Amino acid sequence: MSTTDLQKEISLVKQSYEDNKSTLGYNELFIKYLGKKGQVNKLFNKISLLGKDEKLSPLKSVNEIKDFIETDIKSIKTSSIDESKDDQNMYLPVKASETGNLHPITAVTRNLNQFFHYYGFSVYDGPEIETDYYNFEMMGVPADHPARELQDTFYLREPDILLRTQASSIEARELEKQNPPIRFVSAGKVFRNETTNKSNASIFHHYQGVCVDKDITMANLKWIFDKSLKYILGPDTVIRFRAKYYPEVEPGMSPDIKCTFCNGKGCEICKFRGWIEIAGGGMIHPNTLEKAGIDSKIYSGFAFGWGLDRIAMTKYDIRDIRLLFNGSIVYV
Ligand SMILES: [Zn+2]
Repeated sequence: MSTTDLQKEISLVKQSYEDNKSTLGYNELFIKYLGKKGQVNKLFNKISLLGKDEKLSPLKSVNEIKDFIETDIKSIKTSSIDESKDDQNMYLPVKASETGNLHPITAVTRNLNQFFHYYGFSVYDGPEIETDYYNFEMMGVPADHPARELQDTFYLREPDILLRTQASSIEARELEKQNPPIRFVSAGKVFRNETTNKSNASIFHHYQGVCVDKDITMANLKWIFDKSLKYILGPDTVIRFRAKYYPEVEPGMSPDIKCTFCNGKGCEICKFRGWIEIAGGGMIHPNTLEKAGIDSKIYSGFAFGWGLDRIAMTKYDIRDIRLLFNGSIVYV
């Protein structure tokens, strides 16, 4: 074959590539032109048959064409990735799957668990279906106690099997099982027979903490309230403490946080008080300790309960407690 014919053939290969590139995929183009038995290699084979001097010029042309096709195929490949034809494109990396977020209550619970774990608290769970004894009786609320009015619940079997009204039922069970020193937290759903509105629901979430040891006082409880509330809601959280009655503790107190929705001016969420009651606690009543078999002359302890829903609402700016029970994924 003469060098002129070869040059002609080289031009034809280039022309054929130009004609095919709009119809063939880059894989097919690669095989047809740059593959082992591709057209460019065929040209190289023909050149190898030429004499030493004749080779130079066609070799240069074929190399140019090879470079051109290589670059062009690469650009086709890149642009096809940009167009995301990923259903056909075997070279694309696998798309990362979309994951959901943690529910605000779960996120807050885990956050609090982390805090309390750091201070030596274990994490316990307990049943949502409770007996009257662990839910009321042991926590200082016998059958004729007026506090039962405030904690009306749903009975599975009257009068003794019910849905727990507070996570203190876990406290009752654990105090009975363990010997001091005792330190634990627990979180879970609690139930009340209440009309649902923006800030109350018949299902909500409690976070309960218990510490029983020698020389435990209200000062320990106040410290842990202050530290944990600021940990979860931010260092600028304004907290006030006031005395409050709870049947299972003596004395009892309640930390309120300044309403962040109205900055203390009063709004629907804080019931126009400017403050939100977020937790309650106090010294575990000696009667409760004695019922659990703990000597109240040697040991004392504090217990506290948080409303997790209100914490999540404050933390994530959720203005209606009912949103925590629907499928909205816009928070967290
Ligand atoms: Zn408010």
